Amino acid sequence: MAKTTVTANKIAAINPFETVRTQVDKCAEILKLSPEITEMLKNPLRELHVSLPVRMDNGKIKVFQGFRVQYNDARGPGKGGIRFHPEETIDTVKALSAWMTWKCAVVDIPLGGAKGGVICNPKEMSKGELERLSRAYMRAIAPYIGPEKDVPAPDVYTNGQTMSWMMDEYSVICGKPQFGVITGKPLCLGGSPGRDDATARGGMFTIREAAKALKIDLKNATVAIQGYGNAGYYAAKLAKEMFGCKVVAVCDSRGGAYSAKGIDPAVAFTCKEKTDSVCNLSSVEKLTNEDVIGLDVDILIPAALENVITAKNARSVKAKIVAELANGPTTPEADDILYAKGVHTIPDFLCNAGGVTVSYFEMVQNACMYYWDEAEVYAKLDKKMTSAYKAVLATSRQYKINMRQAAYVISVRRVVEAMQMRGWV
Ligand code: GLU
Repeated sequence: MAKTTVTANKIAAINPFETVRTQVDKCAEILKLSPEITEMLKNPLRELHVSLPVRMDNGKIKVFQGFRVQYNDARGPGKGGIRFHPEETIDTVKALSAWMTWKCAVVDIPLGGAKGGVICNPKEMSKGELERLSRAYMRAIAPYIGPEKDVPAPDVYTNGQTMSWMMDEYSVICGKPQFGVITGKPLCLGGSPGRDDATARGGMFTIREAAKALKIDLKNATVAIQGYGNAGYYAAKLAKEMFGCKVVAVCDSRGGAYSAKGIDPAVAFTCKEKTDSVCNLSSVEKLTNEDVIGLDVDILIPAALENVITAKNARSVKAKIVAELANGPTTPEADDILYAKGVHTIPDFLCNAGGVTVSYFEMVQNACMYYWDEAEVYAKLDKKMTSAYKAVLATSRQYKINMRQAAYVISVRRVVEAMQMRGWV
């Protein structure tokens, strides 16, 4: 419990939307953008607040608060996940929707950025309560979303089941099956092969390219992973499977585990399923979330929440590569410290763009009603991620700026071009 509180305080102390605005200002300076364009980039187009009355198992009504922010749709329909989290705030959702905008642009998929969130604690809710909440949320946002407007997806504490309920509710409202309204669905409901591990797999492709650029041999390279949800678990599994990396540390909100000999990702997964945390693994040293950041490893993968690498602990980072599978794990001050130390950061909206890229493939398959096999999805994902990584690296070298600023330069240029051609600015 203590760990969860620490994370919540950090989130409260550093407003992720302020982080976004600082990042945009830096980019505007590099690209010499006009004040009007900068203002458009620093604010969402639309922000929706909804109240969701839900009948709980005890017979009483509980009212939940939810949000959907459509940040920018200049390049196409809004796209972005829905988080169910007790510490959710509108500013976090705004920040995440901005990062979705840059994320879709950096991998050059024809989508804008959006994000949703509901303040709730899924760990304390029954399946029936979660279903009623998911359906209530969909009813509340239904008029404002749709396959050609804004397409949600899973994120923290939501999954294929949540997406299925929401898709069903939207289909009932429309009076016909509407598979294209949401992505991250299970295969039996128009999901895409390869969507489950897409975020981690996409990240692995960028790590592979980074390792080539930095001349790091990935075989037996040591990896520490913070967060063991969908992104973190698959990152551990794929780092071992694809490259023969040695995962030496894993952790989740309750604590972590270290073993110099390596941790089997599947064993850690079972341990989390059975005991609710990877910190209960046997024959390991216990770690805190904070310890994981400063471990002497080749690759550090933050794969949980925002604001975990800060001005306070960035100097302790020893990894050669920080691969940000989480959204917003590094604060702007920490970014500067890592860059000065020569740490190669693969920024969040590049590193974790694999999820939305396969979501886009899912949308394409839903629209065509023709489904690809896993090999085709992997190959197309590899192509997108590899070319995006190479473009960001080249821009970072050309402008002598860090990888995040370089990714911003590419994304913002694309978004601004679309806004200008549409006559917005
Ligand atoms: N929630 C994921 C993200 O932050 C995926 C979003 C999507 O597939 O639309 O990138």
